[in-house]
Amino acid sequence: MRAIIDKLELTHNLSDEEFMALLKSASPADDAKLAQRARKLRERYYGKDVYIRGLIEFTNYCRNNCYYCGIRRDNPNAQRYRLTAEQILACCDTGYQLGFRTFVLQGGEDAYFTDERLCALLQEIKQRHPDCAITLSIGERSKESYQRLFNAGADRYLLRHETANKAHYEQLHPAEMSYNHRRQCLHDLKAIGYQVGCGMMVGSPGQKTEHLIQDLRLLQELQPEMVGIGPFIPQHDTPFAQQASGTVAMTLRLLSIIRLLLPNVLLPATTALGTIDQKGREKGLLAGANVLMPNLSPTAVRKKYALYDNKICTGEEAAECIRCLAARVESTGYNIVVNRGDHPNKRGTPKT
Ligand code: SAH
Repeated sequence: MRAIIDKLELTHNLSDEEFMALLKSASPADDAKLAQRARKLRERYYGKDVYIRGLIEFTNYCRNNCYYCGIRRDNPNAQRYRLTAEQILACCDTGYQLGFRTFVLQGGEDAYFTDERLCALLQEIKQRHPDCAITLSIGERSKESYQRLFNAGADRYLLRHETANKAHYEQLHPAEMSYNHRRQCLHDLKAIGYQVGCGMMVGSPGQKTEHLIQDLRLLQELQPEMVGIGPFIPQHDTPFAQQASGTVAMTLRLLSIIRLLLPNVLLPATTALGTIDQKGREKGLLAGANVLMPNLSPTAVRKKYALYDNKICTGEEAAECIRCLAARVESTGYNIVVNRGDHPNKRGTPKT
């Protein structure tokens, strides 16, 4: 196993057989070695800096019906909400004061948020905070729509591919959703010039090690600027309510492997990882992650954005969250910086 880890560090690649061995049979000592190599690489590009993104969960209306997700269309127990433009702008203003220079607008696929409404919102945020980046995470749209949103000021787009295996994708989503369309969206976003994030859930129902290898191959092919991965966690009102969660160990192993594959990628230690392990986000940072995405949504709606059960940080105000997080980050030897936190290849490139 040591030879495999050395090869991964040296060449940023492995054969399928080597990936299989590493994913299936790494011992705790191997994981520690992987994490140490991943940290070394992360520090080469980012030093001790940790980038923060203010996450604004602005709507939980969704036209989709993903089997794993608590805000799926057919969940009658989801209490639906939609923030007003004023509320969203207020979140950004608060976030700015707290040191955020990236805002992530995430939501279900909500038809209320037309291109016109979103473009007006993006322009207003950019006008108020010209030194901030805006990330959108609002699912699948047409290439024309992605282009309009980009022209209106969006810099980055998060669209997890969820799984790179078509048959597995079809186990996680109803027939009305298309694996090919999601992949097309990722290619469109890249072609337009967004900094793009994809990623998969770890330990989702039916996931096999072969699927994870396909996920890693997809990352190599797409070369995303960001990769968001987190454990699958069941939500009690979904068809997957009785399924087991993904594990901390596999999520950390994959974070380290992804850092070694894509050395300068932006890699968050996610809220889902912090949910299955009290120290999950710290462990994520120590396994090669360099980004955190704390919640900036108004406290009153946080519990309603219930993608999965027992989600952390649904009670505190944004200011409390950032204080708690800063202490957690310091415990790892890293520190939060006030910075847009662009991908190194996209720094200083004016958007036209
Ligand atoms: N509607 C947007 C945003 C989705 S929510 C979109 O389609 O991209 C963001 C991510 O949360 C999803 O991409 C999925 O990977 C993750 N997620 C949803 N339900 C989850 C669950 N039960 N456990 C863990 N992660 C989940």
